[in-house]
Amino acid sequence: MTQPPGEEWRELATRIKGCVRCRELAAVRNTVVVGEHGQFTRRLALVGEAPGAQEDATGKPFVGRSGQLLDQLLSDAGLSRSETAVLGVIKCRPPGNRTPKAPEIANCRPWLETQLTLLNPRVIVALGLTAAAWFLGTRVTLAQVRGAVHNIGGRAVVVTYHPAAAARFGPNGKPLAALRDDLALAARLLGEALQPDGQ
Ligand code: SF4
Repeated sequence: MTQPPGEEWRELATRIKGCVRCRELAAVRNTVVVGEHGQFTRRLALVGEAPGAQEDATGKPFVGRSGQLLDQLLSDAGLSRSETAVLGVIKCRPPGNRTPKAPEIANCRPWLETQLTLLNPRVIVALGLTAAAWFLGTRVTLAQVRGAVHNIGGRAVVVTYHPAAAARFGPNGKPLAALRDDLALAARLLGEALQPDGQ
């Protein structure tokens, strides 16, 4: 599809916002960060890990320092947040920004699967190890899987660092350079209709 899914998405978002499968997270969250799909004209989806404090406060994905960096890097790659879906492996903030637990990821998995089914992206960028593991299995390391195009269910999945890591390691750090390269790869995939490995 080339248009956002509209009513179906809104109905799904309402169901996600009412979800209390993870009792610990549901008890302390301020919002459920469902994600956004913008105009979705390029059929690109970014998948991150979990809401942080600012996302939990606003209900929006990737705000604050990481979000600003992501927006800049998208722009540098000729992409735009307004045409891109931005989703998370889990939708509620883990206390203290800890890494999501396996049961929480499992609880939330059907929500992200349904979102991806509705959106049907051509290219997915997995941001960080938690997102990489969601697509490729829990034993992967970023070093093993980034820099390639993975065919997951017929979709091209590019794995890269999380923008928070890029911000943390600074302008001369490997994560920023890798993120820049990998978003450029995603843009090429969208622009050139390249096929992922195995197709
Ligand atoms: S993280 Fe996902 S599964 Fe857990 S309560 Fe939030 S929406 Fe539900």
